[in-house]
Amino acid sequence: MHQTGDAELRSRLGQLEAKALYRRRRIQEAPQQPHAVVEGRPMLSFCSNDYLGLANHPEVVAALREGAQRWGVGSGSAHLVNGHSRAHHALEEALAELTGRPRALLFSTGYMANLGVITALAGRGDTLFEDRLNHASLLDGALLSRATLKRYPHGDCAALERLIGSASPRLIVTDGVFSMDGDLAPLPRLAALAQRAGAWLMVDDAHGMGVLGRGGRGCVDHFGLDAAEVPILMGTLGKAFGTFGAFVAGSEALIETLIQGARSYVYTTATPPALAEATLKALEIAERDDWRRERLHALIARFRHGAAELGLTLADSRTPIQPLLAGSASRALAWSQALESAGILVGAIRPPTVPEGTARLRLTLSAAHCESDIDRLLDALGRLPMQQD
Ligand SMILES: *Cc1c(COP(=O)(O)O)cnc(C)c1O
Repeated sequence: MHQTGDAELRSRLGQLEAKALYRRRRIQEAPQQPHAVVEGRPMLSFCSNDYLGLANHPEVVAALREGAQRWGVGSGSAHLVNGHSRAHHALEEALAELTGRPRALLFSTGYMANLGVITALAGRGDTLFEDRLNHASLLDGALLSRATLKRYPHGDCAALERLIGSASPRLIVTDGVFSMDGDLAPLPRLAALAQRAGAWLMVDDAHGMGVLGRGGRGCVDHFGLDAAEVPILMGTLGKAFGTFGAFVAGSEALIETLIQGARSYVYTTATPPALAEATLKALEIAERDDWRRERLHALIARFRHGAAELGLTLADSRTPIQPLLAGSASRALAWSQALESAGILVGAIRPPTVPEGTARLRLTLSAAHCESDIDRLLDALGRLPMQQD
């Protein structure tokens, strides 16, 4: 029986390989930073979401170490049992303050936050609307909720309005910055639409937090919107903030509802308190060091200018996510392999992460890069065979 099962799995894996869709992990041998060491080899990396260069910041590392000295390692249990420490609580207060909302709630990961919020707020008989390019965790949350999920064409508010018609949607959910494209959701128009339709608007700002807005308050702040316009704000801590975990910020009633009923909150062990101490330090640095955002945006401009000079087709992105469309999965893979032989690490993003025919290199920039890193990337990109297929 087992033999047969394995044979079937091997055949499925073989099909992935044949379609250039097989994924492999590379083993990192140094902390997250542009100058990485991968399987013994120094590489210049453009695939980390450590946008502000905080993942290996000495003050954040020290806060984690001191946190472990004070709290030990494990939290021991779920938040509702006895795993909710003073450190977690202080971090929630800092996140509420940062996002200008009454409350914030920590989740172990962004994936779990999205599952938790959507399943706590929507159920059988409800309808929810999502951008077609939303992150997988938002789509999975909708499926798990058993609500009716309708996906609207990417960023298309007119299509969304038609799709809503006379329905009374429960939730409209969007990425703030789209994770594979780097573009921004049309939040002001979505907020107006949600208000007219009487729906909650939920924004997943995994890639805007720390990067956009005043003091890195994210895409909602970037657009000048408030908590009434975007009542549910989700952010992650493992990207620009350089640590791990996620949060949801919103009203008192929203957060209490999640504490009572978000299953991915209730039924899991709290993250280590020392991690909360490290994240508190990372938030402080992210807010304080405007120069990191300024530097990041200068590097993005440098990259886009250089890429345009090379005649590369750039996406409409002003964020650190700069995709380079390849089309087929095999082309994306060939490009990333060519860059890898030049000592440059980039992600080849293929279906089902992105729609069929839109495989791409997903280049990400960080404030920890220097100008010569960008120039080295541009030089290597200039040597790729660029014709589309
Ligand atoms: C990374 C990401 C998540 C998941 O967050 P994790 O903390 O890594 O689980 C959710 N939404 C978006 C848009 C993301 O990019």
